[in-house]
Amino acid sequence: TTPKPVGRRLYESACQVIPGGVNSGTRYVGEPYSLAGAQGAYVTDADGARYLDYHAAFGAMLLGHNAPEVNGAVARSLDGVDLVGVGVGETEIEMARLVVELIPSAEMMIAAMSGSEATAQAIRLARAVTARPLIIKFQGCYHGWHDSVARNVISPAGRAYGRDPLSAGILDDALDSTLIAEFNDLGSVQALFEAHPERIAAVILEPIPHNVGALLPTQEFVEGLRSLTRKEGALLVFDEVITGFRHALGGYQQVCGVRPDLTSFGKAMGNGFPVAGLAGRRDLMERFDFDGGDVLLAGTFNGHPVSAAAAIATMTYLRDHPDFYTRTHTLGERMRLGLAGIADELGVAATVSGFGGVFVLYFASAPTLGYRDLLRNDNAAYLTFHRRMTDAGFLMLPMALKRNHVSGAHTEDDVERTLEAAHDVLKGMLAEGLLTT
Ligand code: PMP
Repeated sequence: TTPKPVGRRLYESACQVIPGGVNSGTRYVGEPYSLAGAQGAYVTDADGARYLDYHAAFGAMLLGHNAPEVNGAVARSLDGVDLVGVGVGETEIEMARLVVELIPSAEMMIAAMSGSEATAQAIRLARAVTARPLIIKFQGCYHGWHDSVARNVISPAGRAYGRDPLSAGILDDALDSTLIAEFNDLGSVQALFEAHPERIAAVILEPIPHNVGALLPTQEFVEGLRSLTRKEGALLVFDEVITGFRHALGGYQQVCGVRPDLTSFGKAMGNGFPVAGLAGRRDLMERFDFDGGDVLLAGTFNGHPVSAAAAIATMTYLRDHPDFYTRTHTLGERMRLGLAGIADELGVAATVSGFGGVFVLYFASAPTLGYRDLLRNDNAAYLTFHRRMTDAGFLMLPMALKRNHVSGAHTEDDVERTLEAAHDVLKGMLAEGLLTT
């Protein structure tokens, strides 16, 4: 790794005033520690090195960094109302209208500032509507930092990385109210419904668990969840915080044709600006109505004009440029095929997964069925590959089981250069005995 004296100095001063030197636990990955510039598909670190960005701020960047359409709209919004905290503004209505127009299952929408708030609202609403206490989530899925979704694995033996529960300081009641099932295993969900009759309020899932890279759901699984939840009187919640707007204009629900009752979204919705939301069936969402409903909807910054302007600009751009999806999906596919071809040529035991513009190189065989398969991923090889790609100027988060994103600003040439670098990195790792053949 090239020395990063400026980044190092910034990190050391950060550590004096910010616990651990970062404002979100997963941001510390060693060097490059500090990024100082961003434009299109590229970022620059504080020491002047330039990287082609595949990290995309955990998926919040979709059109590319500092996209003029979005930043222009945000700049114009600064000439209007900043924040008044009375009534409703035109941009909030426009943002909700677009969500209702674009997301197949959305009949109404509430705004939030982060994905965690959106999933917290979904879970509280589900409990209120069903008058039931329990939630089912899936091993490996992440839905935010709050208490209801802090459990992650079925058993300690099933952990691939990280803590479980995600945090200390959570009441046992909250942890006990979260049940964990295995992704793509309908039987594991059914068993929980049988063990807790009329006690389960909702099933929440990332339709593609991108927090462990890219596990693809089987069609049978998502359709099965739809009919099972309906039969059991529980709500089906799609957490489309990553998949929303990224994989299709209407999110993964548009791709798989399954209509959840509630959908949370965030990240790419505002192309990097803080905005999120929860949408769903009118009869459910009306419980948030302050006059007649009974579920609290509150938040000083909800529907902030800057956030709404960013969301409107991003959604409008995507709606008016359907070729965006063809382009990013084609580049994503080229990347996946290219990586698979390189692994094949070198005889490395690896599987490429992904969807649309997302790609992941797992150092394991066929991790397509469930989280269980990911336990076979060679995390050391994964981290070394991402670290060396980053050192070569291709920012891929060196953290176990994260994923890479092609944005609207990446070009064919970028992808070809990435594949050449990946070839060199994998060849070097192979020569050093760091890969299984
Ligand atoms: N849901 C999913 C699927 C996510 O990936 C994340 C963030 N990584 C969240 C919810 C939480 O969003 P936020 O970090 O904006 O609170």
